[in-house]
Amino acid sequence: MTDETKKYVMMGIIVACLLLAGTIAYNSFSDGGGGGGTGDRQIALMCAECGGFEVSVDEYREMMAQQGPEAMMMMPGQMQAMECPKCGKKSCYMAQKCKKCENIFVFGQAKDQNFPDRCPKCKYSAIEERRNAR
Ligand SMILES: [Zn+2]
Ligand SMILES: [Zn+2]
Repeated sequence: MTDETKKYVMMGIIVACLLLAGTIAYNSFSDGGGGGGTGDRQIALMCAECGGFEVSVDEYREMMAQQGPEAMMMMPGQMQAMECPKCGKKSCYMAQKCKKCENIFVFGQAKDQNFPDRCPKCKYSAIEERRNAR
């Protein structure tokens, strides 16, 4: 491999990572409800130690910047533990806040369900609702 090729491969990986991060962020934001500024957007996280909580987009970005390169290499659908901003342990996962009951849960937690965003508490799924609305 020439240096030039390596450069392109690296750029490809970085772009893919950015796209992936954007997709995750978009998925979290897209159900946030109408417009508004970016300041009040929250990202739900689930820590094995601290339980479910939310951070602001800025806090989340800072958090991701502090994760090692292995966190950036995670594949879609693969759960990679992140360092918890509260307790500092590597036991924090991307989560979702239920629109109905405000329960914070990890994607795909309700294993017998066909929708990964179904709330294990009240069984509400935004994906399902969107599908049924069509
Ligand atoms: Zn924690
Ligand atoms: Zn719920």
